[in-house]
Amino acid sequence: MENLDEPVTKTTGGYIVLPKKHPLVFRTGQPDKNKHRIGKSACDQCSYCTEFCPRYLLGYDVQPHKVMRSLGFTATGADYWNQMAELCCSCGLCTLYACPEELFPKEACDQSKQNMRAEGVKYVQKHPVKVHPMKEGRRVPLKMLMKN
Ligand code: SF4
Ligand code: SF4
Repeated sequence: MENLDEPVTKTTGGYIVLPKKHPLVFRTGQPDKNKHRIGKSACDQCSYCTEFCPRYLLGYDVQPHKVMRSLGFTATGADYWNQMAELCCSCGLCTLYACPEELFPKEACDQSKQNMRAEGVKYVQKHPVKVHPMKEGRRVPLKMLMKN
C-alpha cells in the first residue's frame, strides 16, 4: 500500500514499512503484465517453486512451475495448467524465495485462479492428498527468508 489513509481492517495481519527504493518494493510494484511477460520468456522450468511450495509439500496438487506454462499457452492449454494453481494460498514463498530467476510464479497462480473463476472452471482434486516425504526437510528457516 502507498496510501497512508487506508484503514486497518480485520484482515490486516501487520505492516512492514520499507523505503521506496527497497528491492522488494520494486519487485512487487511492477505491473502484472510485466511480471507475466518476464516469466513467459525466462522460466526454465527448474521447478524449485513447486519443490518449496508449502501446499505442494502438504500433498495438494499445487505446481507453480506448471502454472508458469500457462503464460506461454494462452491460446490452447492454459485451462489445463491453470488448474495447478487452484489450491495455492498465495503465500508468496515461490516468488520471494524459491525462484532462482526472481520470477513471479505466485502472481502467475493468482492470474490462473482469476481465469478459472471467470470461465467458471471447477477444480477437481485428481489424486489423494498425501504429505510429501521431504516436507520437514524443506521448511525454510526464518533467517533465510529475512536475508532474502
Ligand atoms: S522456480 Fe522460477 S524458473 Fe524455476 S520453474 Fe519456477 S518460476 Fe520457473
Ligand atoms: S504462493 Fe502458492 S504456489 Fe507459491 S509457494 Fe505459496 S502456495 Fe505455493
